[in-house]
Amino acid sequence: MHVTAIIAAGGSGRRLGAAVPKQLLEIGGRTILERSVEAFASHPRVTDVIVALPPDLIAAQPSWLEAMPSVSCVAGGARRQDSVAAAFDTVPQLADVVLVHDAARPFVSTELIDRCIESAWRFGGAIAAVPAVDTVKRVKPDGPDPVITGTVPRESIYLAQTPQGFRRNVLADAVAAGRAGVDATDEASLAEHAGHAVRVVEGDPANVKITTAADWQQAQNRVASASISRVGTGYDLHRLVEGRVLIIGGVAIPFEKGALGHSDADVACHAATDAILGAASLGDIGAHFPDSDPRWKDASSIELLRLAAALVRGAGYRIVNVDVVVVLERPKIAPHKQAIRQGLADAIGIAVEAVSVKGKTNEGVDAVGRGEAIAAHAVAMINGQ
Ligand code: MG
Repeated sequence: MHVTAIIAAGGSGRRLGAAVPKQLLEIGGRTILERSVEAFASHPRVTDVIVALPPDLIAAQPSWLEAMPSVSCVAGGARRQDSVAAAFDTVPQLADVVLVHDAARPFVSTELIDRCIESAWRFGGAIAAVPAVDTVKRVKPDGPDPVITGTVPRESIYLAQTPQGFRRNVLADAVAAGRAGVDATDEASLAEHAGHAVRVVEGDPANVKITTAADWQQAQNRVASASISRVGTGYDLHRLVEGRVLIIGGVAIPFEKGALGHSDADVACHAATDAILGAASLGDIGAHFPDSDPRWKDASSIELLRLAAALVRGAGYRIVNVDVVVVLERPKIAPHKQAIRQGLADAIGIAVEAVSVKGKTNEGVDAVGRGEAIAAHAVAMINGQ
């Protein structure tokens, strides 16, 4: 079965008061749009995904969206139904079922998508909806507090969600009804108007639509409480010898000695790399970038840190912060601290505020204290589901 999913993300909703459209707001490090698109793009029964974006976003697509296979984008229209119609025009002719989903519902589950596909295929049209749990009143305006004119049997009331799924020909009729002048806030209404029976499948109370700032905050709390934090630690030491450049956190520091090693022997990068790899239980720097491999001889350690951060992200984690202590007797690193922080933050791909660098001496004790070596300790915290 060929299933195409349309993600309606054409609105430029700034009701949340943010500087960006609401679909580009983040929840737990990923945008609302990315979560919604990903739910369908990674679903085993969904063949392809069409995202209707605001026209200005078409020209400046997020990189993750461009990189997703089987996902294409179209410019949305003024109303939601216009966006869906524009996307429908690019649905493959051979599609059996077309799903329409609001980008503002990032928590749609695999099972709910399955239920919509099955029922749409069987009956022609089916939407996710939840039964009303509160007693439902009909009211008429009467000053500040409206007056009740009747009580509606709760059993007959369902609240529509998305996905809404249709056989291709049914959605074609719905889109045609919309183009003929029917105004609707969902595709089921248009399909009903076109004379098709639309079924209800069991929706999911967790499949919320993010509309207000409070919704957004709740969504962030929910993801944060479901995520786990992990920490990792890293340590490194190199001898200090003449005739080498002293590199700390990618910054060349003027000094008569430098750290000895196969690579640039950057202790801050090596400790930070081990800390983030350790937090994700992904082994250590030696396992990923062994000295014995000519690829890594003279490698820039800042580049290895960048690669390690990509590995950690690829395993599904978000790097929260890194704290590094550099231990050396001389020189003072204080004048370079800001540059070191920035270098590490850029390599790890986090804000400079999330990176801390501290300098220590070893009070003249041991090899580090005698200026024969430089050492670094690091801890990192990462978040994941
Ligand atoms: Mg090292």
